[in-house]
Amino acid sequence: MGRPHALMIPYPAQGHVKPMMALSHRLIEYGIKITLVNTEFNHARVMAALHKTGVDQGQINLVAIPDGLADNDDRNDLAQLCDGMYSVMPACLEELIGKMKESGEDEITFIIADGSMGWALEVAEKMGIRRAAFWPAAAAVLATIMNIPDLIEDGTLDAHGLPTKEEEIHLSPTVKTSLFVWLFIGDPAAQKTLFKFVHRSSHSIKLAQHIICNSFHDIEPQTFALSPQILPIGPLDARSDGNFWPQDSSCLTWLDQQPTSSVIYIAFGSFTVFNPPQFQELAHGLELCGRPFLWVVRSDPTDGSTPPYPDGFLERVADRGLVVGWSPQQNVLAHPSVACFITHCGWNSTMEGLVNGVPMLCWPYFADQFLNQVYISDVWKVGLKMDPDGDGIIPRGEIKKKVEDLLGEDGVKARALELKEMAKKNVGEGGTSSEVFKDFVQVIKD
Ligand code: UDP
Repeated sequence: MGRPHALMIPYPAQGHVKPMMALSHRLIEYGIKITLVNTEFNHARVMAALHKTGVDQGQINLVAIPDGLADNDDRNDLAQLCDGMYSVMPACLEELIGKMKESGEDEITFIIADGSMGWALEVAEKMGIRRAAFWPAAAAVLATIMNIPDLIEDGTLDAHGLPTKEEEIHLSPTVKTSLFVWLFIGDPAAQKTLFKFVHRSSHSIKLAQHIICNSFHDIEPQTFALSPQILPIGPLDARSDGNFWPQDSSCLTWLDQQPTSSVIYIAFGSFTVFNPPQFQELAHGLELCGRPFLWVVRSDPTDGSTPPYPDGFLERVADRGLVVGWSPQQNVLAHPSVACFITHCGWNSTMEGLVNGVPMLCWPYFADQFLNQVYISDVWKVGLKMDPDGDGIIPRGEIKKKVEDLLGEDGVKARALELKEMAKKNVGEGGTSSEVFKDFVQVIKD
């Protein structure tokens, strides 16, 4: 047999493509050949961002298949995206693998699909290819999804995924029924569609012969004990490739000029969309804080076309605030000038905050971010949570108060540094994640 060759299939979203690229780089270090399949839409974005920043994808062979949507369809409409994927991607993947086999040297020996891309595991099974699922979020979320059939059976959930009562479930002390990931996705109709998709995943993930997860044992010990089939290999080291927008590295030079532990870093990942009043309240809050700040404002931060800054805001804060369209976040969080991170609690951002020992202010928006927030503020105690007012807006005064509370709390900083060390230990030589990863590499090579 030739060199082992793994085909990687991320779910088509930023927070899934980046960690799948990070996993790919790790596997390449161990001599595994990697082909990564993006959707055509995301492939174009990844290639454009790489080109613009002069970074390359190393030895990862990047290829693409269609996602079943038209060019101008809204890919943030998850229900539509999931329908499109299931109808078109399986046949395209099969064809791609078939062609690689015909070409001789490129034959695929292993498939690693995102846990939300169960259809790819179905294709792998059908084609007789060995396979694993990669879960780029909390193990607690995956454990819950895998248990959906039981939760319906024992009456915790109705057939549409709605909890019948508010309670903790046995899979993890963190997971209350009110935190189920599908309850925070769009309106009730979208929730129903998405629940159907997640429910299907709870079956298809069973086709995976191995399940690896970008988390580590010490932060979710009960979940890993109760769901031993989920194997921790994280935190993976996110690199500068796989971005949907070009990273603006000029902010690192700006950070070099700021005092140690002085800067508030604010970033809400790839998906969050603010309503204009909330966006403006955040701007006012940052101005009130009176500290240096680095704020990532994507080109699409609200539903409008341009960011609705308050009048004169950018001029007033010009001497201490920097706004960029997309940052090299991993490097930013590792920079000594950064004091704290205002985050939407996406799992990758959460891991990157932990790995760098940066205290976090939680501002969840969507899906699993509410559960991640509970981990950050209540379980690990490495951050605080922002509280919205009666209208659901987080007001400027709350932003200023929580930044001051967080930076005045030596306990949170100490805990953040403790978890940073734990994360390092897990991925270092002899650490749990490191050992699990080596065993997994062996499985691919066997
Ligand atoms: N990210 C980045 N630059 C930014 C903002 C985010 O490189 O300005 C990266 C971040 O480091 C993380 C990913 O984008 O790896 C976002 O994933 P996450 O799970 O935090 O959030 P999502 O985008 O899925 O909501």
